[in-house]
Amino acid sequence: MTKNILVTNDDGVLAPGLLALAQEMRKLGTVTILAPDRNWSGGGHVKTLDRALRVREFHLDDGTQAFGGDGAPSDCVALATLGYFKEKFDLVVSGINVGANLGHDVTYSGTVTAAMEAVIAGLPGVAVSLEIPDGHVGPIDFGPSALAAGMAVRNVLQHGLPADTLLNVNVPFLKQDEIQGFRMTRQGLRVYHSRLDERVDPRGRPYYWIGGEAPTGVPESGTDVGALSDGFVSVTPLQLDLTAYRAVSEINTWNWHDPILSEVSLLRPSSVVAAEKQ
Ligand code: MN
Repeated sequence: MTKNILVTNDDGVLAPGLLALAQEMRKLGTVTILAPDRNWSGGGHVKTLDRALRVREFHLDDGTQAFGGDGAPSDCVALATLGYFKEKFDLVVSGINVGANLGHDVTYSGTVTAAMEAVIAGLPGVAVSLEIPDGHVGPIDFGPSALAAGMAVRNVLQHGLPADTLLNVNVPFLKQDEIQGFRMTRQGLRVYHSRLDERVDPRGRPYYWIGGEAPTGVPESGTDVGALSDGFVSVTPLQLDLTAYRAVSEINTWNWHDPILSEVSLLRPSSVVAAEKQ
C-alpha cells in the first residue's frame, strides 16, 4: 500500500526547503502539500479559532500542486487531517526549515509544532530543520537535509512511533560526505541573546522589536546542540506531555491545605503516586 504523506512547513508554501522535502518524500509515497501561505517562523503551536481559515492553490517551482493556508503551520495540519483532503494520511513531515530548532526552540518553532499537531491528530510527525551558520548569505543546498529527512521518514513508516511522540530532526550545515551520521539526542540548552529594541514612531509613541544576536547553544554531549557541533544529524524524540515529573514530589511537600477548607486535601497522596508512575 502506498503511503500518503502530508508535507508542511513554517517558512511558507513557496519556500525552497519545502520543495526539496516534497521531492524526497515522493520517493516514499504520495505527497500532499498544505503549508502556510506566508512565513510563520517562530509562530509556535497555534489553533486559530477567532477567524475563518482560507486555502489557496499554488504551484511550486517544479510544477507540483500545493495548497497554502492563511493560518499557522499547526492550523494547516489540522485542516489537512480534519478533512480538507479526501486522503487519510499516514505521516506528517514538516520542513525543511531554514535554521536549526534546538533545545527550547521547539516551543517557538512552527516547524516542530506542525509535527506536534500531527501527534494530536493521531499521526506520526517528523520535523526537519537545517542549521544555518550565523551570517550566511547565498543559496542553501537542501540536498543532505532532504536525504536525512528521507532516512528518518523511511524509519518512521517502517517502525511507527510510540504514542504521543514526534521526531525532531536537525541537520548540520555540511556537505553530504562531511556528515558523520545520525545521533539519537535529547534537547540541549539554547542560549538566547534577545534584547529589547525600543524605537519611537512618528507620533512619538514607543514601539518594540525583540532583537539581539542569534541564539547560541551549549554543545553538551548527548544533546541536539552537541550532535550538530560534532557534525551529526540530531534525532530527538519529543513528547507533548510537558509534565515535570521530577518536580511533582517536591511541589507536593508545599502546603496545599487551605485553612478555610480544612476538610479538603487538594492533593491527595494517591494523585501524586499516579502522576509519578508514568
Ligand atoms: Mn521557519
